Amino acid sequence: MYKDIGLFINGEWIYPHDDKPCIDIINPSTHQKLGRLACAQLGDLDHALKVAQQAFLKWRACSAEERSKVLYEAYRIILSEAESIAARMTLDQGKPLAEALAEVRFCAEHAKWHAEECKRLYGRLIPARNPKVRQLVVKRPVGVCCAFTPWNFPFNQAIRKVCAALGAGCTLILKGPEEAPSAVAALADIFHRAGLPEGCLNLVWGDPEQISSYLIDSPVIAKVSFTGSIAVGKKLAAQAGAKMKRVSMELGGHAAVIVCASSDIDKVCTLLVEAKFRNAGQICISPSRFYVHESVMDKFVSTLLDKTCKVKVGDGMDPETKMGPLCNERQIKRLQDLIDDSLAEGASLLTGGSRMDRPGNYFQPTVLANVPASARLMQEEPFGPVIPVNTFDDLDTVIELANALPYGLAAYGFSEDRQECAKLVEGLEAGMISINHYGLGMPETPFGGIKESGYGSEGGMETYDNYLSTVFVSELTRP
Ligand code: NAD
Repeated sequence: MYKDIGLFINGEWIYPHDDKPCIDIINPSTHQKLGRLACAQLGDLDHALKVAQQAFLKWRACSAEERSKVLYEAYRIILSEAESIAARMTLDQGKPLAEALAEVRFCAEHAKWHAEECKRLYGRLIPARNPKVRQLVVKRPVGVCCAFTPWNFPFNQAIRKVCAALGAGCTLILKGPEEAPSAVAALADIFHRAGLPEGCLNLVWGDPEQISSYLIDSPVIAKVSFTGSIAVGKKLAAQAGAKMKRVSMELGGHAAVIVCASSDIDKVCTLLVEAKFRNAGQICISPSRFYVHESVMDKFVSTLLDKTCKVKVGDGMDPETKMGPLCNERQIKRLQDLIDDSLAEGASLLTGGSRMDRPGNYFQPTVLANVPASARLMQEEPFGPVIPVNTFDDLDTVIELANALPYGLAAYGFSEDRQECAKLVEGLEAGMISINHYGLGMPETPFGGIKESGYGSEGGMETYDNYLSTVFVSELTRP
């Protein structure tokens, strides 16, 4: 079911070879080797740059209708092959098969949305002061783009960037996640079969730092898009800034969750447990810092614990599994450090707290209470199955606390009181705010952060802004 994965350049796969560097692809559930991944050398990157530049000249000249057809065909193929893409994603990423399948099926809709929306990349006519002059605003594709996508939602993160770049008329060199490459490889193959001309989408893997530095520095690249940690995002944005290149950054978050006294606690806990332990908490918009009104804290904690203890952890291929392993060993160490630090700062451990005693990257669903604001867990994104719960007594003060970190990706509020809801919507500083449900990440809605969580939206009618230049044309039409 799982095969070696190659680079994809100019419509051709370049598979791992014994004489060339490659990376072992490991199943995070068993630590067994699944296959090998080819690593790009500088010559491969030069080749990708050259063909992406040549392909751009042709692709940008295609009509919106032609680009739309390719995107729509990709949507159709993804849906028909969703099961096999999802099964391989569970093997290399670890998430439960049902979650992987939902990711592929739901994210196919990004291709459909972009297929529809790319036909509406309008310019405009501006009435001129001089009646002999015609003033136009036109949108042009920025050129050859490079993108770097992470391992937590391998299909989702890549398809957003691929569809936006291609739908706008740009070509792309994508570096997918070395730890969970199969879904991104499937995407490249599907677009090829959907009729995308050679060279428009090129896929590379290898040493992330070497690849990103080389591509960003190349004069061929006009735009850089990255999803990942704030630390790496800042580095790439600085490199791109030195060459004045367009950038969009979808970085980490540490989403505050404010639960007011009027909330339906059972309903809220059901929703939060499902959202928190989905993908083992490795989600940038995961509910992350829980603030609960002191009058309902006891009820909240007992309900939350009850539901958390029922989360079935196991191999993603087991249909009973609700939470799989973490994608990599790094995450286990990070989580353990954050939890140990919280306990040293005086937090109470209510359940979980450590790695599970079995092979694979398994971590216990964890709940901590009364975690001091000084603890690292309250300041750094855990990106794992850990819930810190604290109390509050005043809504204005807790909104200030929620806004106190440099993150600004997502925020959640729960209340049955309309005025409290309005205060939450107005007060929370985040690129995405969801009140009384978990409602973010649709193809038709913008996805992106503010503050250090990045800039530039993916999805929604904003999706193409990152990939288009605005050009003003002033034409004297008669003497
Ligand atoms: P990371 O930022 O080091 O890596 C994230 C992704 O970026 C990986 O796929 C990696 O291969 C790639 N990457 C790393 N360095 C790069 C470079 N110099 N150039 C180009 N690509 C590079 O993070 P990590 O250690 O894999 O995960 C740690 C933290 O990253 C998480 O705890 C979380 O905060 C954040 N993260 C966020 C998202 C998101 O969806 N926003 C996704 C993954 C990780």
